[in-house]
Amino acid sequence: MLNQNQPMQPLAPQPAATPEIIPETCPVCHRPVAPGEYFCPNCGHELHLKPPSALQQAWVYFVSLFLPPFGLWYTWRYLKAGDKKSKTVGIMTIILTIVSVIVSVWLWQALIQPFIANYTNQQNQLLNQQLNQFGL
Ligand SMILES: [Zn+2]
Repeated sequence: MLNQNQPMQPLAPQPAATPEIIPETCPVCHRPVAPGEYFCPNCGHELHLKPPSALQQAWVYFVSLFLPPFGLWYTWRYLKAGDKKSKTVGIMTIILTIVSVIVSVWLWQALIQPFIANYTNQQNQLLNQQLNQFGL
């Protein structure tokens, strides 16, 4: 006879050989899933972002360096993914975004600002010369 008073219990937790592996459940169908699985075997829900391939890493670093604020979108995605490789990529996107902003500010101050200042100076001098020619 089944004991009707006892609520259905999931399998009793087994003494884990590797205590750092925490059993997980799918957030969609709530079935237990093996740690480290990227998709739920029951409903196919994506559980983790796959660690980025070399090409994906190159693309993410490129975006972080040359399109600064957009790299931070990947930061969030990869830091959330959980595995060590993805986390490293996430941290790298923050570093590269900061480097990119610093270099952009430096480039602006070192090259573009003097160029504009020089150009406006020339224009002012030219105007003054023309005004002087007309005796104004
Ligand atoms: Zn599922």
